[in-house]
Amino acid sequence: MTTVFGKIIRRELPAEILFENERFIAIKDIAPKAKVHLLIIPKKEIASLQDMGEGDFPLLAEAAQIATKLAKEFGVESGYRFLTNVGEGAGQTVFHLHFHLIGGNPLGDMA
Ligand code: 5GP
Repeated sequence: MTTVFGKIIRRELPAEILFENERFIAIKDIAPKAKVHLLIIPKKEIASLQDMGEGDFPLLAEAAQIATKLAKEFGVESGYRFLTNVGEGAGQTVFHLHFHLIGGNPLGDMA
């Protein structure tokens, strides 16, 4: 099912694009929860981490690699969060797998 991220990937909706290759796009979050709040999104339409197939797991390594690069670029490499919400119970609102990179402010304890 196409979501807002699918539309951003296909350039049907605007976004501030920070990185792109064949498999990923990285954008600024539209409603940032900290000074730096980026989204690293695999182009493949996978609903969540829990919906990944056997062959999809290399995407996790690549997402982490992109996160480390962007963390440096945005000057938050000494402290940031890299996470994905899985399902409504965890607060997932867009059902296209994505990873948040959040930093630039002191981050409180995890809930
Ligand atoms: P989730 O709650 O699914 O883990 O995260 C979805 C994130 O996508 C939220 O932080 C939300 O602010 C962001 N978001 C939702 N719609 C858009 C959009 O149209 N553009 C951008 N750049 N971010 C969006």
